[in-house]
Amino acid sequence: MTAYWIENGNLIDGTGEPARSESVLIDADRIVAVGAEADRLGAAHGSCERIDASDCAVMPGLIDSHCHITFNEPSSNDELFFHRREGLAALVAAWHVQKLLRAGVTGFLDADVLFDLGVDLRDAIDAGMVEGPRMTTGGNALLTAVGGTAGPLIPDEGRRGYASVVRTRDEMVTETRRQIKAGVDWIKIHVTGLIPRQKSAGEIQVWSLDELRVVCDTAHALGTPVVAHCRNSSSTADAARAGVDMILHATFMDDVALEAVIEAGAALVPTLTFQANLADHGSKVGSSPELVEIFRNEISGSSGMLRRAFDAGVPLLCGSESGFSLTPYGHWHAREMDVFVEHLGLTPLQAIRCATMEGARSLRLEGEVGVVAAGKLADVIVVEGDPLSDIRLLGDRRRLRHVISRGRSVDLSRPWPERKPISGERVSGYSTQILTWDLVNS
Ligand SMILES: [Zn+2]
Repeated sequence: MTAYWIENGNLIDGTGEPARSESVLIDADRIVAVGAEADRLGAAHGSCERIDASDCAVMPGLIDSHCHITFNEPSSNDELFFHRREGLAALVAAWHVQKLLRAGVTGFLDADVLFDLGVDLRDAIDAGMVEGPRMTTGGNALLTAVGGTAGPLIPDEGRRGYASVVRTRDEMVTETRRQIKAGVDWIKIHVTGLIPRQKSAGEIQVWSLDELRVVCDTAHALGTPVVAHCRNSSSTADAARAGVDMILHATFMDDVALEAVIEAGAALVPTLTFQANLADHGSKVGSSPELVEIFRNEISGSSGMLRRAFDAGVPLLCGSESGFSLTPYGHWHAREMDVFVEHLGLTPLQAIRCATMEGARSLRLEGEVGVVAAGKLADVIVVEGDPLSDIRLLGDRRRLRHVISRGRSVDLSRPWPERKPISGERVSGYSTQILTWDLVNS
């Protein structure tokens, strides 16, 4: 493997410390030295590749703590649940995952995957067969028979798509153990869901505190952390009380929920990127005005409490919800930092820490990755410009000069991956509206 001596760059180390002008030396999968020591060892090395990072930021690779690599960018739940094939889903995911690296993402967590494919994809990446970032994975998400965000599309029992329906406490224990035996890194629970008659009030809690404890206790006894989707206050509070390690969304928290999260020491992955994309750009891609309004309100209605959580020391991680039509792979992984700056009032330096050092939790590599310092794992990116004066630079792939993942340089010179459509993978309607007599004759 090559050694890399990165000189003349502005180092943003991921810890939240101010940027400083220091060199970085990488050898195999380790950052060997930073600063004067890196220059001394680099000069003595003889065969390392020198990277001139003048006018560039040198920082840890981004960690996306909420990414659905197997979903293949559906525009509806119908497409996601009924237009995916198991073998093809694995091939398509292996093709999409290279785009993450090409966008500066050197680590990601996929908590719930179609057909339980995550373990296979992770192992193929680790074996060097598929080019991709470090990956941690869940299996199927655990849902009660009430369902999740896909409502009645979820069957009353068994599995469909990313969901595994657990009807009783016994099934909760059995399925948790089955997934851990298969090799998952995380157990995922969908704590809230949509019920047709309740839709106006948003998602409601569909697991009891006691049921959440059953899963958390079973997983923890086997050394496996639990991540949960929670989109209201009571669900966030109960997930924290039950021992959930990481909570996705945690939107609409009240004081009680915030207190429970702080008390439990849980981390939060707000994942406002999907909402922000829909609110700001949904009209460009045909999203309905009602949906735009709902998601705009989720951001404005949650930012204050998320900021209070941050101020209280709750770890906030960046997740992009990449994998849907509104969040295609390789495009929006950096946007959560932008949202944290704009809506939560974080500084760019704080936001970068959320996407790097804090993200190491989702990779289960805390203290090992997400920081540029001697001894850490070698995931480093070099970006043209100063992201501390404009955080949005990190979302512009054209500015990425180098991506070093596990000590190897990613080839950024190749054309962006493109492919042809595959028959049956998208939902195609007969029309976008109903053809009434009046429409024709008015
Ligand atoms: Zn998600």
